[in-house]
Amino acid sequence: MKRRQFVGGLAAAASLAACAREETNCGSDSAAGAQTFEWSCVTSWPPKFPGLGMAPENIASRVEAATNGRLKIKVYGGGELVPAFEVLDAVSRGTVEMGHDAAYYHKGKVPAAQFFAAIPFGMNNLEMYAWLYYGGGLELWQELYDPFNLVVFPAGSTGTQMGGWFNKEINSVDDLKGLKMRIPGLGGEVLRRAGGTPVTLPGSEIFTALQTGAIDATEWVGPYNDVSFGLHKAAQYYYYPGWHEPGPGLETIINKDAWNSLPPDLQEIVRTTCQAIVTDVIAEYMHGNAMSLKQLKSDPNVEIRPFPAEVIELLRGISKEIIDEMMATDPAAAKIGESYFSYLEDMSANTDISERAYYNTR
Ligand code: CA
Repeated sequence: MKRRQFVGGLAAAASLAACAREETNCGSDSAAGAQTFEWSCVTSWPPKFPGLGMAPENIASRVEAATNGRLKIKVYGGGELVPAFEVLDAVSRGTVEMGHDAAYYHKGKVPAAQFFAAIPFGMNNLEMYAWLYYGGGLELWQELYDPFNLVVFPAGSTGTQMGGWFNKEINSVDDLKGLKMRIPGLGGEVLRRAGGTPVTLPGSEIFTALQTGAIDATEWVGPYNDVSFGLHKAAQYYYYPGWHEPGPGLETIINKDAWNSLPPDLQEIVRTTCQAIVTDVIAEYMHGNAMSLKQLKSDPNVEIRPFPAEVIELLRGISKEIIDEMMATDPAAAKIGESYFSYLEDMSANTDISERAYYNTR
């Protein structure tokens, strides 16, 4: 008993000494440590949807555990609190503290944001993360969102997507004419210039639109998520590759005032948790896509096909035109695009003799 008291006394004395030595205000530190925060996080995803919708749920539960309940985050699916495509507005205004979605949903307001979600024929997910974390990409992203009073963190990637589900065969470039397809972001603009009609629909509305014939085709993600929606029951042809979304990134956005109200240790936990989720989501999609592809391959009603070479060639040419125009008219897109494409060139040189060369040997 005496010994325990003595040890306790020593610890208290050591702690006081540490306070004095570092000249920190120990009183206010412990007050900050006692403060709790309750946040709402709105998303563009169906609630608890595999991968996309679980990423913010996992961020919330890990943050709550790591902070011992000092920061609790309640996650809402698209449309539960705000419409699926109004996440940026809600977080920017401070209606809610946090959001999870993909940057290309903001193309109407911030065209350059698309560089941080998906660029047709651009970087894959690992190249993207190299750019974001080590190549200056994240600093450019933050600068782009500063005027919206937002702090941004990368928060997952679906990996290379599939080209999508089609109820019409695509045998030549002429088959794109008049094609009504759900496809967001720059990919949609490319389809428009190729003669098609792009439609933007939140995930939850895709199946019905495809099944009723309101659209002829849709892209969504890849086998893992597409099977979750039952898209293989609404269309016959499954085309690859996802030229329009080679490694799309997801984002966590946080209202700056809410962010600034957090003590530094909670900020670091949020930042680190988002980075951990990146690895988690990539692994989940690699696993889920491979397992679901097995199911699709054994389905007699599904035909998995590559896009014809002439179609890919046309789409690549149009993509370049559209991105060049965007960079010529929007200074933010010019600055970000310059960084993105110079990085892509460096990455491609290495990827060509490492991963691409290796895949060709296996
Ligand atoms: Ca997609």
